[in-house]
Amino acid sequence: MAVLGGILPLPAEDAGGLPETSSVLRWVRPANVHFAPAKLLCLENTHNREGGNAAAPAPFRKLVTAAKDQGLAVHLDGARIFNAAVAWEVDVKTYTGMVDSVQFCLSKGLGAPVGSLVCGRKSFIEEARHWRKVVGGGMRQSGVLAAAGLVALKENLSRLSEDHENASVLAERLEESEHLFVEPCPKRTNMVYFEIRKESVTAEELARRCRLKGVLFNPVSSKRVRLVTHLDVSRSDVREAARIILEEAADR
Ligand SMILES: *Cc1c(COP(=O)(O)O)cnc(C)c1O
Repeated sequence: MAVLGGILPLPAEDAGGLPETSSVLRWVRPANVHFAPAKLLCLENTHNREGGNAAAPAPFRKLVTAAKDQGLAVHLDGARIFNAAVAWEVDVKTYTGMVDSVQFCLSKGLGAPVGSLVCGRKSFIEEARHWRKVVGGGMRQSGVLAAAGLVALKENLSRLSEDHENASVLAERLEESEHLFVEPCPKRTNMVYFEIRKESVTAEELARRCRLKGVLFNPVSSKRVRLVTHLDVSRSDVREAARIILEEAADR
């Protein structure tokens, strides 16, 4: 951020998935030579580290409106914004229609092999293209990748709810274990985070053992694990994965 944007992050507490309006607006301070002026609010939805929680449309709208009233531009880190829209059963424009710019990924739940888009006003995109070139991101013959992205948008949006159902099934199964604490998520999408409560097992060790049985995940800390469902994971895969994780967590 500092190197490429010349900007300074002013982080707001966002446990629960969406910061309180007050914790954002506290950074909108009177002009003062000692302060970096706040100009942009950046929000993430769904929120990865908050368990993939999807922020509800109403509080999202309230926060964005409050920020705009204070003259802030709003960028949506919407890597998984379609998951949020599907979870709340709203059109994605409910979120994207009110922000200045949005980024989303074709390559996560949407299943394309590669690709992300940044969307915004024409003048913003022209500037973004300039910066893409500056950072070496220009590509040739990228239409072949765009074609995969179109397939993702045309065919894979409608099935995201399956990933959400599978994640719920996975969470329910894992909750049966006394060794695991499945982190609750108010509006779960395609993720399940859990903590290992067993002293003798680290996340790394559990991941290593499960990998040997074909269940792949990365530890996010020494005791915390993230599981993600996606279009290559079926309901029976999820049941099998839960069985193996429960078994490996109990073992030893
Ligand atoms: C993956 C991800 C990104 C980055 O996506 P790029 O494809 O690298 O642009 C940004 N935000 C969140 C929350 C992500 O999960």
